[in-house]
Amino acid sequence: MTHPFQSFLEELYLKYRDLKDGTVASYIPELAKADSNWFSISVVTVDGKVFEVGDLSQLFTIQSISKVFAYGMALEDRGRDTLLQKVGVEPTGDPFNSIIRLDENSKRPDNPMVNAGAIATTSLIKGQNATERINRLLEMFRNYTGRDVFVDVPVFMSERTTGHRNRAMAHLMYHFGMIDEKIDEALDLYFQQCSILVNCHDLAVMAATLANKGINPITGDRAVSVEYIRDILSVMYTCGMYNYAGRWSYDVGIPAKSGVSGGLLAVVPNQVGIAIFSPLLDTHGNSVRGIRVCEELSRHFQLHIFDLPMGCTQFLQKLSSKDSSTSV
Ligand code: GLN
Repeated sequence: MTHPFQSFLEELYLKYRDLKDGTVASYIPELAKADSNWFSISVVTVDGKVFEVGDLSQLFTIQSISKVFAYGMALEDRGRDTLLQKVGVEPTGDPFNSIIRLDENSKRPDNPMVNAGAIATTSLIKGQNATERINRLLEMFRNYTGRDVFVDVPVFMSERTTGHRNRAMAHLMYHFGMIDEKIDEALDLYFQQCSILVNCHDLAVMAATLANKGINPITGDRAVSVEYIRDILSVMYTCGMYNYAGRWSYDVGIPAKSGVSGGLLAVVPNQVGIAIFSPLLDTHGNSVRGIRVCEELSRHFQLHIFDLPMGCTQFLQKLSSKDSSTSV
């Protein structure tokens, strides 16, 4: 018999499959090739159960969602104090690629989820040279996904040749002493990390790993130290959805991160990882269907972190007991 939660996801999929609002990102030329019909939803529990529907094997580049994981690695490499000196933890209320606030106040990028902060974060990843740094990053992503991951070279090159705004930010940050002189190396590493190929299932396993205090629930491998889970989830909660983060926290209330190729990942601590892939984006650069699916999941299962006392702590129990009354 089909699990009621699986049926719930299938109903959600059918409900939103025909929603065509939004546009596919095109400022990175290679991303414009995405099919606007692609759509998948995956939920992985901290005890390894998987519920999913849609184009699950469709690969796409992880884009900004990579910032979450690079931040975890930089924290492990340099510690919280160094990170806080170079990258803040304040939401900006500005678009993810805004350069304007870099020239104000502390000269420090506001948070690791916007491009400036992410480039500064990635510049702190340790390694003897560029090859060692990208290999360490790929290895870290492998621990999260449980499988080998690779860089999509055409997307990397496409962003590398057109990413002038990111390049301008990196130079400004060098000018202010926020990153070191290896500006092009930091940018290449950032463009490469954004171009790592994943599918929706991978993203849900990655989210479940964060929900599971850093241990991949499928492989049992640790991907990040438990010490930094709180830091990572905090910046996801306040900054992960860019200049929609306030509304997202209000409506959905789950730490999350989106990317311009259409991925969206959400972490219900100690319960489940949720991922949606749909390349149609709203004006903030967030997946339109992704937001709608998360709104429904949050409302129906009381996943908002302030839905107390009945809230998300009982979700896992519900999925395990097969008694969930689930209809969209
Ligand atoms: N690589 C993209 C960029 O730097 C990531 C942006 C995003 O996914 N929001 O513009």
